[in-house]
Order: sequence, then C-alpha cells, then structure tokens
Amino acid sequence: MECYHLPHQTIPILIDHLMTLATVIAPHAKGEKSFTYAPVAHSRDVVLEYNRTLLSLKKFFLPPVEQLLSYSIRNQTVSETIAEAVERIFFAVHSYEMQAILRLDHNMLEGHPEKNYITRRTGARFIGISFEPDEFHFSRSVGIRVEEMGGFDLFLNKVGEDYHLFVITDAGEKMLTGFQELAPVKSAGMFERHFKNKIKYHYNRLPEVLDHVYQSEVWQKVAGRCVGCGACNLTCPTCYCFDVMDTLDLSVQSGERSRRWDGCLLTPFAEVAGGENFRDKFSQRLRHRIYRKFKYITDSESTPWCTGCGRCTAYCPAGISITEIINDLIIDFQQQQYAKTNVKTTMTESGI
Ligand code: SF4
Ligand code: SF4
Repeated sequence: MECYHLPHQTIPILIDHLMTLATVIAPHAKGEKSFTYAPVAHSRDVVLEYNRTLLSLKKFFLPPVEQLLSYSIRNQTVSETIAEAVERIFFAVHSYEMQAILRLDHNMLEGHPEKNYITRRTGARFIGISFEPDEFHFSRSVGIRVEEMGGFDLFLNKVGEDYHLFVITDAGEKMLTGFQELAPVKSAGMFERHFKNKIKYHYNRLPEVLDHVYQSEVWQKVAGRCVGCGACNLTCPTCYCFDVMDTLDLSVQSGERSRRWDGCLLTPFAEVAGGENFRDKFSQRLRHRIYRKFKYITDSESTPWCTGCGRCTAYCPAGISITEIINDLIIDFQQQQYAKTNVKTTMTESGI
C-alpha cells in the first residue's frame, strides 16, 4: 500500500483539490460542542479533529424524511420518486462510521435492493481519518480499530502534527492525480490508539450472553431511567427502521407517500391496529434494541451491528450507557454460570 507524508498545512490544499472533482462532504463545527457532516464551501471550515457528529453519514444515503412517490387521483397517475445520481467525496470519516455504512449496505441491498439507496451510494467515495477515542467510543470492543481502513479509498493517519496518507483503492489513487504535495513515506508505522470505554467480553461471546439474559433484572433497572425519547435510535448509524405515511392534499385529489426514520424505543413503533402494542414497556424496547445490535443480525452475519460510535450514550438525556448495559448483562451471565457450577459441585459432593 502506498503511503505519503502530508504536512497538516497541506490538508486545505488537498480539500480544494478534491472539490474540483466532486462535492466534498466533511465534518464542520455546529455550535460550541457539536459537529455535523455538511458540504464543504471553504476548506478552512473543515474540522479534522472531532469526537463524533450528531447525525451519522446515514443521512446522505437514507434521508431522515424522503418522498417515495406522488399520486393524482383525478388523473389516475402514480409517479415514483427517483434519486439523482451525484458524485460525492466524504472526507475525514472515522472508521466506525465507515463500518456502519458497510452494515447499512447489507440492510438496504440484501433481499429487495433499494434503487435510490444504490444510486446515492454508487457515486460515493470515502477518505478516512484517525481519531483519539473519548470516554464514549468503544469501537475496538466490537472489532473496529481506529486505523481500520476497510471501505475507504484513502486514509489519513495522524502522526505528530502531520498525517500519513494511505492509498487504498484505485479510486483513491485517481483522486490524487494532479495533487502535487505528496512525499512518499518508505515505512509507515502504525500504533494502536487506546480506548477507555470497553466491553468486558470479546464481541463474539455476546450472542451467547444474550441467550441467557432475556429475563435479566438489568432491563428493568435501566428502563427506570429511560424517557423513551428515541435519541439513541435516531443518532445510531446502523438503525434503519422507518415509518411510511400518505399525505393527501386538502382537495383530496392528489398526495404523496413518504417515509421517515422511526425508532424501536419510541412508543408507537410496535403499535398495531386496535391500539395494542407488542412492546409497550421501556424494558422490552431497550432489550429489543440491544438484541438487534448484538444478537439477531449478529447470529447470521457473525459481527455486531453496533460499531461502537458512542452516540447513543453521548446523546442520551438520561445518561444511559450501552457499554454499561452490556457489562451488567455479562455480570448477570457470569453469576448464572457460577451458580450452575456451584449446584453441580454440591450435587457431586453429596453423591447425587
Ligand atoms: S436516548 Fe436514552 S432516554 Fe432516550 S430512548 Fe434512548 S435510552 Fe431511553
Ligand atoms: S448502538 Fe450506539 S454505539 Fe452502537 S452504533 Fe448505534 S449509536 Fe453507535
């Protein structure tokens, strides 16, 4: 893999170069503490060191609100809404975010592939950047290193004040054509960043843990703090559930069908006709969410569907931490295993 030394002063020049190729989307500051991915108007506005954006890159491929079709009853016509093809370069993306896009690909392309998702995804190129994990990141615990380069075309690894730029794909190499500021690096060392926030078990043991904790008291304990706001769903880069609704004009002659993000922590999510609700308790909804991230899809795909971005914890108004839930469930599981071993030993000792 080719690697170049890139002094930090040349990053805006690189961004300006990329802007001649396509629309560049990159992190920008929003308010005093928050960050957002937005199209770049000036390279100087791009933020390279950030913890996480409020919403993930998902919003560019699966918009929060999206018209699916429009119809006219008077003319008896239906017109499907077709997404426009756009070339976009997503710049300074963290590895957990890229891995979330790859999981979203699986959800949107398996079975009945979504045409509009494919259109938006086809013109997308990704340039990754390393980051310093904060108290909420735990992607290493779900198998994603800061320096994970899968899915990226180029990757910027911060070394001291400057960067090492890794060329990963042909598309990445093509993006650098005409960019003059590159000095090859002969041997680019990699050092792993330290994560403060961790899950106690290797992630491949979590489905086994979840096999044993469906009735755990942990769900009730956490549910006592949850206010059901759905922020954990709506900020999660791998949640992809949506609700579909029809809006009819006042003339009752035409209307549109649209979809918007939905979330399993919201009360109406599992409501059905007659007002029944399959998961009317917070504890049931919290449990469902955790099983979606670490059990149901993981059983078939052998990887967690959580990428450890830490958004659901960082933005939870009740301070509920996903790693704390998992670690408490692990303790519950360990106690169950210990109790079983103890019973066996007692029975053996008593000759039963
Ligand atoms: S963000 Fe926190 S309070 Fe809101 S639904 Fe999720 S767990 Fe509950
Ligand atoms: S479950 Fe939480 S930590 Fe995991 S990917 Fe979703 S928002 Fe990030």
